[in-house]
Amino acid sequence: MLKGKTAVVTGASRGIGAAIAKKLASEGADVAVLYCGNEEKAKAVCSEITEKYGTKCKYCRCDVSDFEACKETVSAILADFGGIDILVNNAGITRDGLLITMEEADFDAVLDTNLKGCFNMIRACGRNFIKRKYGKIINISSVSGIEGIAGQANYAAAKAGVIALTKVTAREFAAKNVCCNAIAPGFIRTDMTKDMEEDPRLSAIPLRRMGEAEEVANLAAFLASPAADYITGEVIKIDGGLTM
Ligand code: NDP
Repeated sequence: MLKGKTAVVTGASRGIGAAIAKKLASEGADVAVLYCGNEEKAKAVCSEITEKYGTKCKYCRCDVSDFEACKETVSAILADFGGIDILVNNAGITRDGLLITMEEADFDAVLDTNLKGCFNMIRACGRNFIKRKYGKIINISSVSGIEGIAGQANYAAAKAGVIALTKVTAREFAAKNVCCNAIAPGFIRTDMTKDMEEDPRLSAIPLRRMGEAEEVANLAAFLASPAADYITGEVIKIDGGLTM
């Protein structure tokens, strides 16, 4: 369904981003796998994509919190792939702690990566989408940005910001046939949640388990496909019923 399309996935060296990159490739897309610190893992994701699906795949370092780096990375991808059809803003970090003792640096780092990173990449890819009169932007938010999970003042604020950014992007780009939606996962089994196996909050999930990165990837692939051409400005939760 995505043959002939080019996708850029941030934070695709591991976890949800890696699963999304693989899923989009399995649907026929060429993929730019962006990473920040884990070059070896990004390389492995690319090798798997090339071997299994035979689509074009390049990995490249891009710290999404760096405005200029995003611009340069997107220029290089445009030169190499010829255009970008799908942007998945997935890169994210946590620096949890109670608000009363939260360090300023931890607040800033989470906002810079999770929220400003989305702005930086949309800004860098925007003209390409407008010129092509086509685009699918998918931002990874979190149920924390909807509910405001205690201990995540920085993360929840960033993820709520991602939802607002999604809606503004959807409105401003709609006339150019560019759709922008957000996915709000609950607890998904990745490095980010590796210490949660015994967490009492898991028993509150109606489906009685954590989600898998591949399940988030299925939703991202749907939103990236023509089947979702009339969906924009939406926030879709994938949380096993946790926050219904
Ligand atoms: P992981 O910790 O497994 O992976 C994080 C990814 O983000 C890595 O690929 C990492 O790259 C990349 N990254 C971190 N900082 C930067 C940066 N400054 N610039 C570019 N890339 C960066 O996280 P998940 O896969 O669990 O999370 C993916 C997204 O899903 C995040 O936005 C997260 O907030 C969101 N989410 C996750 C949930 C969960 O339960 N897991 C729940 C709700 C939302 P590298 O390894 O190369 O450094």
